[in-house]
Order: sequence, then structure tokens, then C-alpha cells
Amino acid sequence: MDIKENYIAVKKQLPEHVQLVAVSKTHPVSEIQKVYDLGQKVFGENKVQELVEKHPLLPQDIQWHLIGHLQTNKVKYIASFVDTIQSVDSEKVLAEINKEAAKHNRTINVLLQIKIAEEESKFGFDIPEAKAIFQKYLNGDFPHVNITGLMGMATFTDNENQVRKEFTVLKEIFDELSGLKPLQTLSMGMSDDFPVAIECGANSVRVGSAIFGKRDYSI
Ligand SMILES: *Cc1c(COP(=O)(O)O)cnc(C)c1O
Repeated sequence: MDIKENYIAVKKQLPEHVQLVAVSKTHPVSEIQKVYDLGQKVFGENKVQELVEKHPLLPQDIQWHLIGHLQTNKVKYIASFVDTIQSVDSEKVLAEINKEAAKHNRTINVLLQIKIAEEESKFGFDIPEAKAIFQKYLNGDFPHVNITGLMGMATFTDNENQVRKEFTVLKEIFDELSGLKPLQTLSMGMSDDFPVAIECGANSVRVGSAIFGKRDYSI
């Protein structure tokens, strides 16, 4: 399979209302350009350094999403151009994004990353923390960020019931917070589990290897 066939096959599986974030981490700009030329405008990277290197080499109308853990001291490198930061997992980093966005006179879209997986290693807010942050946001803290939704990663397992259960929890929190202020984006699902995620209510999926092929090293 080549990239074009992969891309078309993934797109075919997505209902109209589901956004595709093409996850291009570890793949060269030439491959990203190929997918862009097929009409894809939204790409995701998980490392600041890699994003900063690729950004000037590719079309400027790409909407870049940062999807990996973000250290506070690195926000400044992407604040001028990043479209959405999907991996906001602490109040500290949210406050820093707000500060850097203000310097550039812009508003940055963010998703709150929620810990839904059983695995200890996954980053993210627990549910009460996320609710508290969202409340502060509604009260007017962080005026230069736009919290547009939630992001989550399920446990890495073949047990589909487990994955389904975790996605369903995230969908419930999404609906609850949306009752306070409507949220647009529920980002869940990757190459191996995006069809299940969509069944559970995802309207944005982050798909890498199903488009670009296997990565040489695991991240
Ligand atoms: C790498 C990555 C993905 C995409 O993973 P694939 O299995 O290659 O589709 C999605 N989300 C995050 C946060 C990632 O780091």
C-alpha cells in the first residue's frame, strides 16, 4: 500500500462529521507534502522540536496540532503558529499557553487531555481536575486560550471492551462539560482503534501509521 491508497482508505472509514488529524511524527516533509496534496490540511506532531523544524518547510495553511506532552518551557517555540494543542495536561502549561498566546496577540485552541487509560504512564487530568480547570476557564481565567474540547488515549490492549469503556467515559465527561459551555471537539481514536472511538462519539481522530506506514521507532 502506498500513502495515497492508505489515505483514501482511512478517509473512507470516516463519517462526514469526523475530522482527521494526520499524525506525521517521524515522517519526512516529503511524505507530509504528498498527503497535503491529496487535500489534507490538518496534521499532528508530538514533539515541539520536530514541529518547529517541519513548520517552515511546508505549506503555511496547514493547521498544526500538537498531540504530545508539552513542557512549559517549550510553549514559546510554537505559540506563534500552532492551531491546536491537544495535550494540555496541567494548569501550569495552560497558563503558559495563555501567556504566550497573549504575546502574539492571538488565541490558541486547546483540548484538555483526560486520563482514561488504566496504564499509569499516560498523561492527562483526572476528571475532577479537568472540571475544576474548565470552571476557571468559564470564570474568565486564560482569556487567550479557547478550550474547544477533550482528548484521550485508551489503554493499549486488544481488549475492545476495555477500550470501548474508556472512550465511553470520556464521551460522558464531554457531554457534561458541554452542558456548561458547548465544546466542539472530542479527540479520541488512533490507527488501531479509531472505528471504535467513532462509535463511542469521537468527532476527531488522530491517525498516523494507517496513513504513513509503520514508524521506524516507537514513540
Ligand atoms: C502517535 C500518536 C497517534 C497516532 O498513532 P498511530 O497508532 O500511528 O495512529 C495518536 N495520538 C497520539 C497522542 C500519538 O502520540
